[in-house]
Amino acid sequence: MLQVENLNAFYGQSHILHGINLRVEAGRRTTVLGRNGAGKTTLLKSISNSGPRVEGRVSYDGREMGQRIWFRRAKDGLAFVPEDRRIFTHITVEENIELGRFGASPDRTVIPPAQIYEWFPMLGPLRARLGGQLSGGQQQMLAVARAVASHPKLLLLDEPTEGLAPVIVEDLAKIVAQICEEQKITLLLVEQNIWFGRQTTDTVYVFDTGQVVFSGSWAEFDADETIRDRHLAVA
Ligand code: ATP
Repeated sequence: MLQVENLNAFYGQSHILHGINLRVEAGRRTTVLGRNGAGKTTLLKSISNSGPRVEGRVSYDGREMGQRIWFRRAKDGLAFVPEDRRIFTHITVEENIELGRFGASPDRTVIPPAQIYEWFPMLGPLRARLGGQLSGGQQQMLAVARAVASHPKLLLLDEPTEGLAPVIVEDLAKIVAQICEEQKITLLLVEQNIWFGRQTTDTVYVFDTGQVVFSGSWAEFDADETIRDRHLAVA
């Protein structure tokens, strides 16, 4: 289980997250929604210890995450796909995926490349192409594939649909939901695309100016008529 307790995050003097409490049970999937600047990316960076100064407690499977240096966290089973994807542009698709496998946690079975290409059929024909020669949608698929190749226990996805064509968003939603289901991966997704969150997760949090203003199921989200108007940009 991922547990975030009384998390405060700061960039210099700017206090960005204010006393966040959030929990994702093992194998469950959660979306964090919020307007631009609500603090969604800061949450993922705080959990993965990759940016802001953090106070409070972040634990996964009872282990404190804040104290772990980044490559240890990968071995602990955490994979983070940042908003800018960070794929390696000067090596091939196949080599990008191989690097993901290299980061695998020793207590998780390694996922063979053939399985990755089965989940991401778009990548098979591109396996010899350099990362930098891919389209935005292909790069996003590769970023998720590389993260999944490490067979994570906990997957953090930062706005994976940003800038993607609707048909790619649909494909990605199916793929993410299928893999998390099959592999029992715990997912924490931050998104502005409500449709994508609904397709891939069962629980939703809404952030506004660095605070949790709603948490519940998608049915509870739908039943609360004020939440979208007050805290989310009008779609
Ligand atoms: P978006 O949907 O636009 O990505 P977000 O909800 O992910 O937004 P964050 O990126 O977490 O929001 O930003 C939250 C606040 O923190 C914003 O006011 C932003 O300007 C500020 N911020 C983000 N990164 C930094 C940084 N490196 N230094 C200073 N302030 C930052």
